[in-house]
Amino acid sequence: MQEKEILQNLREKFSELYGDGDVALYFAPGRVNLIGEHTDYNGGHVFPCALTLGTYAAVRKRTDDKIRMASLNMNDAAVEEMTLGDYTNKAEGSWTNYPRGVIWAMSEKNFTIPTGFEVLYYGNIPAGSGLSSSASLEVLTALFIKDQYGFDAVEQLDLAFLGQTAESDFVGMKCGIMDQFASAMGKENAAMFLETDTMKFDYLPLKLDAAKIVITNSMVKHELASSEYNTRRSECESAVQDLQAKYDIKTLGELSPEQFEEGKDLIADETKRKRAKHAVYENDRTIRAVEALKQNDIATFGKLMNESHVSLRDDYAVSCPEIDDLTSWAWEIDGVVGSRITGGGFGGCTVSIIKEAAVDTYKETAEKKYQEKYGKKPEFYVVDPGAGAHRISQ
Ligand code: ADP
Ligand code: MG
Repeated sequence: MQEKEILQNLREKFSELYGDGDVALYFAPGRVNLIGEHTDYNGGHVFPCALTLGTYAAVRKRTDDKIRMASLNMNDAAVEEMTLGDYTNKAEGSWTNYPRGVIWAMSEKNFTIPTGFEVLYYGNIPAGSGLSSSASLEVLTALFIKDQYGFDAVEQLDLAFLGQTAESDFVGMKCGIMDQFASAMGKENAAMFLETDTMKFDYLPLKLDAAKIVITNSMVKHELASSEYNTRRSECESAVQDLQAKYDIKTLGELSPEQFEEGKDLIADETKRKRAKHAVYENDRTIRAVEALKQNDIATFGKLMNESHVSLRDDYAVSCPEIDDLTSWAWEIDGVVGSRITGGGFGGCTVSIIKEAAVDTYKETAEKKYQEKYGKKPEFYVVDPGAGAHRISQ
């Protein structure tokens, strides 16, 4: 569906649910991470871009204390109602915990909403597939609250921090800053090179030399992700503690591969050593990949993407057989520059850079092999980097 149709549909459904009247419309994108996976909560570098797919919201402020939320993607758009007094209660297993978390995170910073609102969401990004529908939902919510209630002190980058706080401290997924950062700060035709410990970042025009970014959805939902993600995070923290016997560091992102090799035997546990190895080497790969891209050396960029996948598969152990097959099949095709798992892992999507002339061959091959082996079809999205969260003028 084109944006125009999406917005028209959203307005109509909004009126059916909440009655006629003015509405304000907003959008926040999902993201795809090109390289730098599981480095953001390790103080390392990431290189994502925002997508043109994401989550939309139609919103209207209320004058009383009722908050009403519905999503066209959830439970036939059933409306969940809460009052200002109880929005911070978690609703077990409900998607509304993401927006509830954002309202909570904002109130913790003294951006407390004085009245309620009604909102209808719609996402055209697959949820639970590693493209960060959750971050788009959070950043979107922070944006419309800022805008509707006139919280002018909340800056665009703050939307990312508020979203991360909501997901990490309210929903309980101890995520880094990358997803929300990309959703808030995205820019058309550019990827973002972010150093997560300092939050310094650069926009890099994506000149891919007649190649496309192709996302392949394995259709495997990453259900394990939350608990395993939090485990990886604590394994890395524990490795840092061991390494502190030799190095004055707070995060793995501060170590070069050489330093890691010199100190790695201090990490007693073999599993933790492997996790730490990934974090250190992936950070280094990300820096080198961006350097290669600046030199228009797409081939090196692709090679580093492939190495990233191997490391995520073997050392960080966040892949799955379906994704490993999709990447291996991609690597065999002429014109595939690089291919790797993207997002938190345990299912979800691969991201590949593929020469335009080879995109169709890639899709046909991947679909045929996947169907034969797993009895289902992958979905493909050929994407361009899109803009960050914004209000839609009407
Ligand atoms: P990802 O962020 O990779 O898409 P997550 O598991 O982190 O996957 O987040 C997916 C969850 O976010 C969904 O299960 C749902 O609770 C929530 N969500 C995402 N998009 C929407 C939407 N459009 N409407 C309602 N809830 C959504
Ligand atoms: Mg998510």
